[in-house]
Amino acid sequence: MTTILFAAGKKAWPLWEAPLRAALTQAGVAATVVLDAEPAEVDIMIYAPGGETPDDFSPYVNCQAVLSLWAGVERIVGNPTLTQPLCRMVDPGLTQGMVEYVVGHAMRAHLGMDAVLAAQTGEWAPVIPPLASERPIAILGIGALGAACGQALAGLGFDVLGWSRTAKSVDGIACFHGDDGLRDVLHRAEIVVTLLPATPETENTLNAERLSWLPKGAAIINPGRGTLIDDDALLAALETGQVSQATLDVFRVEPLPSRHPYWAHPRVTVTPHIAADTRPETAAHVVVENARRLLANEPLMNVVNRVAGY
Ligand code: NAP
Repeated sequence: MTTILFAAGKKAWPLWEAPLRAALTQAGVAATVVLDAEPAEVDIMIYAPGGETPDDFSPYVNCQAVLSLWAGVERIVGNPTLTQPLCRMVDPGLTQGMVEYVVGHAMRAHLGMDAVLAAQTGEWAPVIPPLASERPIAILGIGALGAACGQALAGLGFDVLGWSRTAKSVDGIACFHGDDGLRDVLHRAEIVVTLLPATPETENTLNAERLSWLPKGAAIINPGRGTLIDDDALLAALETGQVSQATLDVFRVEPLPSRHPYWAHPRVTVTPHIAADTRPETAAHVVVENARRLLANEPLMNVVNRVAGY
């Protein structure tokens, strides 16, 4: 019998135990999922940062794969003791959550809802927003999440510009890549959504220079990672009006310290890393499908490229 260790935190176990067991039964995978095991007995590990997750994977000598419950793997990808394949999470529930977050906050920026609410003073002063087709939106990172968000926005009629590391083709999205591509995208984007992974290459993707390329008054939505934005540059751009508003879900330090200027800033919306949670009911099937593939010697899904870091 294959032993799958749930090393994603004791607190999370009650949420995952039943969905994982049900998914194993449904898939006909002869494996048991446990909260504790001797390291040498573990064949597959389910991982999420924090909790009781191991920092040292070397005692897990028989572990053939580490399956992350998180899409972002920056906290494990560089661990030198991790020698087995690492798979990240691509979950339909997580993707749907991200689409709803991004579309909701993009619509809020597009319709100028903050100004509408603030202007309810008894004065009849119509301001007609442009149509979606007149609003260019950039999605930086058009992977599993960025592509789904971009396609949902394109479905609403937005002019969606996507940017990635390698050349891509995604229906409904005008795709760009490389440094020149980023310049082209940012020069047009009135709303920018950052859905890149945290890697050394993506650190400060939105720095002072690149924020200055945006049309004046652009809005930023960051559900990717805190490292994607130079915080001082963003605060300065908000001060001058170069950036009109920022909706931030992720931060360099989480929880965001209570004295951080973002909390009190009138044009910053802070959400506490809730854009897209992994949903056990759907994600359990993703984990189990990878376990099934491993046992059947089939290629794993969503394998992390350890060199690229995502
Ligand atoms: P993914 O499928 O790996 O897509 C990543 C995208 O970023 C790809 O398009 C990739 O380009 C691009 N990229 C990577 N490095 C780049 C670089 N140096 N320059 C330009 N583009 C680059 O990841 P995903 O599943 O969409 O997730 C994206 C991120 O969302 C995660 O890494 C995580 O940080 C974040 N996230 C946040 C939450 C939340 O609740 N806030 C939840 C889940 C995930 P290629 O297509 O060329 O490879």
